Amino acid sequence: MSISPRIEARFYERDGNVYKCGLCPLGCRIAVGQFGRCGARRADEDMLVAYSYGKVSSLCVDPIEKKPLYHFHPGGRVFSVGGIGCNFSCRHCQNYSISQSATGKKRTTYESPEELVEMFRKERVDMFAFTYNEPSIWYEYMMDVMDCAPDATYVLVTNGYISDGPLRELCKRVSAMNIDVKAFTDEFYVKVCGGHLEPVLDAVRTAFSLGVHVELTYLLIPGYNDSDPEIQNFVNWILNDLSADVPVHFTRFHPDNAMNNVPWTSPESLLRAMDMAADMGLTNVYVGNIISEEGCDTYCPECGAVVIRRTGYLVNIVALEGLRCRGCGHRLYMIR
Ligand code: SF4
Repeated sequence: MSISPRIEARFYERDGNVYKCGLCPLGCRIAVGQFGRCGARRADEDMLVAYSYGKVSSLCVDPIEKKPLYHFHPGGRVFSVGGIGCNFSCRHCQNYSISQSATGKKRTTYESPEELVEMFRKERVDMFAFTYNEPSIWYEYMMDVMDCAPDATYVLVTNGYISDGPLRELCKRVSAMNIDVKAFTDEFYVKVCGGHLEPVLDAVRTAFSLGVHVELTYLLIPGYNDSDPEIQNFVNWILNDLSADVPVHFTRFHPDNAMNNVPWTSPESLLRAMDMAADMGLTNVYVGNIISEEGCDTYCPECGAVVIRRTGYLVNIVALEGLRCRGCGHRLYMIR
């Protein structure tokens, strides 16, 4: 472990004693001595500082399915690392102890990019995920880590709230993203997350169009974002702007943080959303955060055969030859 350095943030302009950060659509104006909304950028006298640089809160080797990514090296293991802070302030955040604690409350360990990569190498895995809290606000650190291990395969689990320029640079180096679409109304994003919907959709479209493997997570919260019309709007948007093959994970909400009074998502509600999306034409729809016999396996969209069976995080590839269904030869939307 070494001492945390003072690293200059990227994507900002100075206007007198105020810095304008351009990393994410919030565009914070930060006076000297203050932090941006994410808590990850601090305005010092001489520069905007990437305050959370190298401050690691969480480290683990996970199944790639846990991100969740079901169509990206299925059955693989991924070195997963998280920092502190977030540019959203979701009232239901399930990781709020790290996401809302950037300015000193959460204990972290500084790991230089070289030290982190050394730990990664010891695990003898090929994939590296920035996850747990919002990774895009760790921009400078992620880039430096990727410089240290350019041969690794990089994955992001993100809220998709990042400006276009930084995102495009990131997409040159990241192979897969699981992006949260937290609801399909701007009202939800404003009231519950402290952001807006449209920039998230822009980011999803951009990442997909630049060839990043994209999977989407939609956390179903009873009474907030789970109406049929809202789910149908979400699915129609995927069909029109992305592809019917983009995997979608409808996941279960549990009461947490400032939304302790909202009930768990029922299994029936998850399966209803999944069935609706599949009936509308999505080919890879799953349920998550729940033990279920339905909504976990991958089916060939052409002949309907099960090609991957999942029991929890146990993955059994039963009928794939490379990327093709062993039964009918159809090529799946997948990277292996
Ligand atoms: S990255 Fe942080 S400081 Fe920059 S605009 Fe977004 S919330 Fe504000």
